[in-house]
Amino acid sequence: MYRAFLIKYAEIGLKGKNRSYFEDCLVEQVRHSLRMAGGGFHVRKEPGRIFVLCPEGFDYEDTVSAISRVFGVAEYCPVEVVNSTEWDDILAACTAYVEEHIPDRNTTFKVFCKRGDKNYPKESPEICADIGEHLLKQFPELKVNVTEPKLRFTVEVRGHVYIYTDSYPGPGGMPVGCNGRAMLLLSGGIDSPVAGYMIAKRGVSIDATYFHAPPYTSERALQKVVDLAKIISRYTGPIRLNIVNFTDIQMSIYERCPHDQLTIIMRRYMMRIAERIALENDCLALVTGESIGQVASQTMQSLNTTNAVCTLPVYRPLIAFDKEEIVAISKRIGTYETSILPYEDCCTIYVAKHPVTKPIVKAMEKSEKLLADIIDEMTQKAIGEREIMRILPE
Ligand code: ATP
Ligand code: MG
Repeated sequence: MYRAFLIKYAEIGLKGKNRSYFEDCLVEQVRHSLRMAGGGFHVRKEPGRIFVLCPEGFDYEDTVSAISRVFGVAEYCPVEVVNSTEWDDILAACTAYVEEHIPDRNTTFKVFCKRGDKNYPKESPEICADIGEHLLKQFPELKVNVTEPKLRFTVEVRGHVYIYTDSYPGPGGMPVGCNGRAMLLLSGGIDSPVAGYMIAKRGVSIDATYFHAPPYTSERALQKVVDLAKIISRYTGPIRLNIVNFTDIQMSIYERCPHDQLTIIMRRYMMRIAERIALENDCLALVTGESIGQVASQTMQSLNTTNAVCTLPVYRPLIAFDKEEIVAISKRIGTYETSILPYEDCCTIYVAKHPVTKPIVKAMEKSEKLLADIIDEMTQKAIGEREIMRILPE
């Protein structure tokens, strides 16, 4: 059983003077994620690396899945730690490593060395050569291949010595929290949870807003959104979910405005309300799951008319993705099965047979004048009476 993991990062290694800030964010996120794999882990920063020391009896699979969900992790390697830098102890640990982790020794290898401790008496080429020779003596079946070794037997000499042969890809991206906060418009569909995942991958923390229309939409539809938020919070960290009752606004739009414009007008009010909540909570942008041309409300013209009511930037990480590509991501991150549960969404209740596909802002503004006497009060009420849930991963 491995005792520790070595975490390598890519992009944040290029950050110059701010690098330490990004590394601290990554350490924090690794700690947060490991809390789900049980306690007792020790996460330590060393130059260019993060090490996770595991407690006695830790669960290997849970630990790997916790680490592999942390944005900013480029690669992770299960490692053995040698609590001594004495040469004989290092050689003994190399032998023990092969005995325990490489049952099939009819293979080829090459030794790699990283010497973090520049005062160590041996230099890297000498360390590699001596360990290679030692392993060949101990395990005559092993063969050296310096061009295409099957095993990259790596020894890092730092305050401690670390030995590993395997490396697995992490999710990449940047640690959540290092790039500010955004407000995700989260529905129960396939797209918006994926959009939230993707914006978080760039280091952005997320809050979320969900609009429901009881009694037209059910408790189960709300529960589905809560469940989706729980799933993405495994990657994004805790999410503050705002649940806004949209029934009165939706009914008024339905009663007073042209039916072919319903979806766009509804969407414009959703954006306005989400933006108000976003500004109250230090969010720097709105995020939606829209993709050009997917439906009538997502043509270029429709997107322009919804954009027109916002002052914050609206980020749409899926803008150029096909549905199939979005579905593939949702399956990978674990939201798909929940997203396809058949509960009604507030937007699907009153969809027009022939919605406008090329709305213009002026026409929308004219239609919205029909709500002028009531909309401010309704909006105020919807925001004031919203429910706020703190969503944590399960
Ligand atoms: P999704 O799968 O994310 O629901 P969709 O393909 O169903 O997307 P629409 O229903 O047109 O597309 O919604 C477009 C975007 O508007 C969504 O991705 C989401 O960001 C936002 N949105 C739609 N309905 C709601 C809602 N009830 N609450 C919060 N946001 C919503
Ligand atoms: Mg939807």
